[in-house]
Amino acid sequence: MVNQSTLSEVVSKLARREVSSREVVQACLDRFQRVEPRIHAFLSIDADNALAQADEADRAIAAGVTHAERPLLGVPIAIKDVIAVKGQPLTCGSKILGKFVSPYDATVSEKLKAAGAILFGRTNMDEFAMGSSTENSAFQVTGNPWDPSRIPGGSSGGSAAAVTADECIAALGTDTGGSIRQPAALCGCVGLKPSYGRVSRFGLVAFASSLDQIGCFTKQVQDSAKMLEVLSGVDHRDSTSVPRPVPPYSANLSAEIKGLRLGLPREYMIGGLEPEVKIAIEAAVRQLEKLGAEIVEISLPNTDYAVATYYIIATAEASANLARFDGIRYGARVDDPNPIELYCKTRGAGFGAEVKRRIILGTYVLSSGYYDAYYLRAQKVRTLIRQDFLSAFEKVDGIVTPTSPTAAFKIGEKSNDPLQMYLIDIFTISANLAGICGISVPCGFTESPKLPIGLQLLGKPFGEETILRVAHAYEHYRRKHEPAS
Ligand code: GLN
Repeated sequence: MVNQSTLSEVVSKLARREVSSREVVQACLDRFQRVEPRIHAFLSIDADNALAQADEADRAIAAGVTHAERPLLGVPIAIKDVIAVKGQPLTCGSKILGKFVSPYDATVSEKLKAAGAILFGRTNMDEFAMGSSTENSAFQVTGNPWDPSRIPGGSSGGSAAAVTADECIAALGTDTGGSIRQPAALCGCVGLKPSYGRVSRFGLVAFASSLDQIGCFTKQVQDSAKMLEVLSGVDHRDSTSVPRPVPPYSANLSAEIKGLRLGLPREYMIGGLEPEVKIAIEAAVRQLEKLGAEIVEISLPNTDYAVATYYIIATAEASANLARFDGIRYGARVDDPNPIELYCKTRGAGFGAEVKRRIILGTYVLSSGYYDAYYLRAQKVRTLIRQDFLSAFEKVDGIVTPTSPTAAFKIGEKSNDPLQMYLIDIFTISANLAGICGISVPCGFTESPKLPIGLQLLGKPFGEETILRVAHAYEHYRRKHEPAS
């Protein structure tokens, strides 16, 4: 079935006219019908609109438009429901947006459309991207395609599950502290978080603006490189997007990794790491060594402070960003003649427990008297964490770590213990604090039950080419040498 193909395979089949875009979209819709009752990856899907986009793509292909001109022409790509797509619902996994329909496209949605992609459905997520399991969605719990009684990771769990379950060919997600890399690891697909500033955030509903970054989920590394080419670039509507040229990421992949130096952070092989994850990562490191990389032990001394620092900065920014959901500007409203009451009642009814917890925490750390003790100090530690990475990158070209300390856990297992949930982000969070790029690639399975494990590669700011190259070389080696799963 064509929905099981990788993005590159779909593109070549479309280019050779072996399939039509309508057939690809229909295959994804059929798959959606079959698996959604178990997986619940999507919050909404507009099948007629997707088929209409497919027909338009087929007309363009028939008229001679090539994939060199429009690299994603006819390819269905799912979008996390926190990124605006004109004329489509936008919920952020929250009740507070009610029946809000987006009046405009995010820059990434525009870019996907310009590249010819079919914007295919809106995927489930933790409310406002706050979470690590997608259990904080106000609407449904997504099941991990490997075992639907387990979580798919989060907050972009819907996107990771949709790609892994072959309900779409690729998907967009967002990563504020690991929300692309961690669900990719737990579902067994590839997840890429670009460097801060690589991809425009215009039209992304902000959680923590200094940490948020849009990226992608794909079935193989080459496809992430292709997606990154389409998504990247400066945008006058996002002043934090950086005016740097966009390299031909996918064309530069076949390069060797001989002679590259990869750092293994001493602080990351910690106690909480599940033994099977540790074994898989150690095996991956040996494979990278066989491929010619030089493995060097490095130190990131401020790692211990990353989770605490993140939860101060992210909640502070979230408390400000989410003030706009007041019952006046957007979506749902609980009416009251007194405007303050209206505000309180709307937010009380519209936000879930985790979002409320974070708004309260964020407001607290920003309040006078506590600002210096918490927020300002966290900003200073953030600088130290960034410096840890920058000095490590003077010695190495990339850093290798586990993506998540554990494989996918059972739905409900950690949802009553927010601190346990926060600690899962230990390996991914620092990259957002430092603004660097990262990718998670599958690197094996636990034995019983069989669940995917992810290897994380971290790169310098705007060093995507290097991590894609290493990830691609590793993936290639694994495909050749490991028994098919
Ligand atoms: N799990 C982290 C959190 O709950 C990261 C979320 C994200 O990257 N959006 O904040």
